[in-house]
Amino acid sequence: MSPNAPLTAPHSANHADRIAFYLTGRRAEGLPAAGRLRPALQAGYRNLAALRHDFPLVLARSGDTPAPSLRSLVDAALARIATGANAERTRRQVLCVEHEVRVMLQEGAEGSLGELWGKAVQRLAAERDATFADSAKRARSAMAVDGPLLGCDGALPQRLLRHVWQQVQQRKEAALRDRLVRLIKQLSDILRAEFEHSDAGRTAPQLKASVSSGYAELFDFDAMSRLLSHAVPREPMPEARRDRIRRLLGVLDSQPFVALPDAAAAKAAGNEVFGYLFDSCESGLAAWKGRLPRLVELSRAIEIAELEIDGRYNPARHDALFESYGANGLEPEELNQFPDYLVCLDGDTLGATEQARLMEILGSDLPIKLLYRIDDLIEAPQGAQGAQSPGLRGRQIAHMAMGLNHVFVLHAPASNLVRCGERIADGMRFAGPALFCVFSGVRGGPSGQAPYLTAAAAMESRAFPAFVYDPAGGPDWASRFSLAGNPQPELDWPIHRFEFEDAKHQRVSEDLAFSFVDFVAADPRFASHLAILPGAPADEDLAAVDALLLRERRGLPEKVPFVRMIDDADKLHTVIVDERLMREARRWREMWHSLQELGGVHNSHAERLLARERAAWEAELAATPAVVAVPMAGPAPTVAATAAVAQPQAAEEPAEPEHSRDEAYIETARCSTCNECTTLNPKMFAYDNNKQAYIADLKAGSYAQLVEAAESCQVSVIHPGKPWDANEPGLDELLKRAEPFR
Ligand code: SF4
Repeated sequence: MSPNAPLTAPHSANHADRIAFYLTGRRAEGLPAAGRLRPALQAGYRNLAALRHDFPLVLARSGDTPAPSLRSLVDAALARIATGANAERTRRQVLCVEHEVRVMLQEGAEGSLGELWGKAVQRLAAERDATFADSAKRARSAMAVDGPLLGCDGALPQRLLRHVWQQVQQRKEAALRDRLVRLIKQLSDILRAEFEHSDAGRTAPQLKASVSSGYAELFDFDAMSRLLSHAVPREPMPEARRDRIRRLLGVLDSQPFVALPDAAAAKAAGNEVFGYLFDSCESGLAAWKGRLPRLVELSRAIEIAELEIDGRYNPARHDALFESYGANGLEPEELNQFPDYLVCLDGDTLGATEQARLMEILGSDLPIKLLYRIDDLIEAPQGAQGAQSPGLRGRQIAHMAMGLNHVFVLHAPASNLVRCGERIADGMRFAGPALFCVFSGVRGGPSGQAPYLTAAAAMESRAFPAFVYDPAGGPDWASRFSLAGNPQPELDWPIHRFEFEDAKHQRVSEDLAFSFVDFVAADPRFASHLAILPGAPADEDLAAVDALLLRERRGLPEKVPFVRMIDDADKLHTVIVDERLMREARRWREMWHSLQELGGVHNSHAERLLARERAAWEAELAATPAVVAVPMAGPAPTVAATAAVAQPQAAEEPAEPEHSRDEAYIETARCSTCNECTTLNPKMFAYDNNKQAYIADLKAGSYAQLVEAAESCQVSVIHPGKPWDANEPGLDELLKRAEPFR
C-alpha cells in the first residue's frame, strides 16, 4: 500500500496544545477533528469486490458444507478443471467470472449461484473469445452446488444461522418421522393380527377382504370361516392392552411436532404442525411451555410403544413408572429427538423483559438456540457514564452463559462466520441451549463502508473477538474453549507491516498495531476524541497508541498517543487521541486479556507456576556447584553447562532476515495457518514444523498464483516479489495487483 505523503501545513499544534487535547479533549486551533478517515491498515481494502475474500457465500441446498464461500467453490472447481496447457487461461477466465459476481452483488443483484454466475458470464462474454464461455460452464458444473448467494450484510447472521439450523432440523425431523411411522405401523400390526385371530376377523367377508381380488374365486370363504371357527381358540388380547395400544396410536397419529407422510390429511383434520422459529424469547418460551404437556405425552407414548412392540410392557411394573413420567422434565437425550427452537434477537434493542427471558432460557436446559445480533457494537462515549453499549452487554451475556457450563456459546463477527461454519453446525446440533452472539458490522464504520470491513475490523481490534465454548468438547476449559481464528492471539493487538511514501517521496515502512482505537477512530461518532495533526508533524512528543497503553502514566504525560489514518484520497494522517478513548482502549484490552487467559494464552496461573518452578530450578542449580566439578567420563553434559549454553541461545533469537521488494517470501513467523496458500498450490507453499507457511518451491507455480495467494492471505504476510518468467501472460496486470504486497 502506498498512501500519498501528507502536505506540509501552515500551522501545526504545539506540544502544549497536543497535551491539552490528550488530557481534556479541548481542541486548539490547528487541531481539526478526524472527520471521514479510515485506519491506515485498511488502505488496501477500499474496493472489496476486487479482493477474493470469504464473501459471498452460498446457502447450499445440498452437499456436506451448509454455506461454502464462493471462493472455496471456485478454488475447488479450478483444481479439477484448470489443468494441462491452458490451465492458466482457464484460471484467469473463471476468476473473472467470480469477480463479476462480486461486482453484481455489490450493485445490489440477488439470486442463486447458478443465476448470478450465468448473468456474470453474459455480461463478460461479449468481450471474450469462445473459450471463455466454455471455461465458465465447466467451472460451474464442477461446483456441483447451488443456493442463494449471500454477501456480508445486515441480514447475513439471521439467514445463515437459520439455514444451518434448518439443515440440522431436517435431519432431526426425518429421524423422528421415521421412528413415529415405524411405531404406528408396528402397533397397528399388533391390533390387526389380534383382530384376524378373533371371531370377527374370521367371518367369510373378512377373510375374502384379506385375499387379493384376483384369487378370490379360488377359495370358499364360508367353508374356510367354519373351519377356522373350530380351530383351537387363541388367548385373546387383554382389553387393557388393546385400549393402551389404541391410546398410543391416537397420540402418535395426532402429534403436532413433526409432519408425518400423510401431512395433508392431518392438516385437513385440523392437526397443524408446530413452527419453531421465533423473534423473541418471550414468544419462544411461551410456545415451549404451552407445548410441554403434549411433548411429555408424546415422549411417553414413544417409550411405551417401544416396550409394547417388544412385548416387554409389564403393567404391574410400568404403569406406575409411566404415571409420573416427565414430572421433573425430560432428560436431554429424550429432548434431543425433538425439533429445536430458534429465536432471533436484535441485541441493540433488547428490553428488560426480553433480557430476563433470555436468562431464563440460558439458565435452563431447553433445546432453544438463540441468535443475539448486534448491529451497533460501541455507542459513542458521550453517553451517560456507566451506560452499557450493546457490544458490552452481548459480551457480558456470552460470559455469563459460559459460566453456566451447559450452554454452547459462539461469539464472532459476521465477517468470520464462513470460517465458523462447522462450529455453527456443532452449536445447532448441541443437546441444550446455544447462544450465537454475532456483530453484523452494519454500524460503526465510516459512512458507506461495507459491513464486512467493519465486522473484520472489530475482530482485528479485539473489540469483538471470536471465541467458542462447547460444553461437549471435553471436561476442561482447554478442550471446551477456543480463541481460534483471532489474528495473532498472543498479542494485545495484531501487528502488520505498513508501507507508505514519506514527505520526501521515499518508500518507508513501519509496524502498526490495529488497536481498539483504530477501530473506533473510523466511526464518525468518535470524531470529537480524535484530532488530526496537519502536515508532517514532528513526532518527538508522539507515541503509538499501543506503545503508550503498555506504559503506566505517572504525573503529566510527555507523549501524546496517535494512530495512522488515511482519507478518501489515500493521504496519510497522524491523528492524536484523547485520554477518554485511551481509557476505553485499556478497558477493552483488559477484557481481551481475560479471554486470553481462558484460552490458555498468558495464563496467569500457569505463568506464576512456571516462574516458581524456574526460581526453584535456578536455586537448585546454584546450590549444586559440585555437579560441574565432577569430571564426567561419558558425553552427558552437566546441568550447569546446559544452562550456560541455553542462556545465550534464548537471547539470540534469529532476527527476521532483510528482504528486497523483488524477492518473493513469506513472513513465516506471522502466518496464522489459514490454509489459503497451501490449498491454492501445495507444491509452491508448505508448512514448517510450527505449521506456519513458507515458500517451498517458487517455480512450482505461476506468478499469478503467487499474487493470488498474497491477495488471499488474511494477514498479508505473503510478498510476491517480481516475476521470474518474463513470458507469463498478463504480467502488467499482475504487477499492479502485486504492488501493495511487495
Ligand atoms: S501465509 Fe498462507 S497459510 Fe499463512 S496466513 Fe497467509 S495464506 Fe494463510
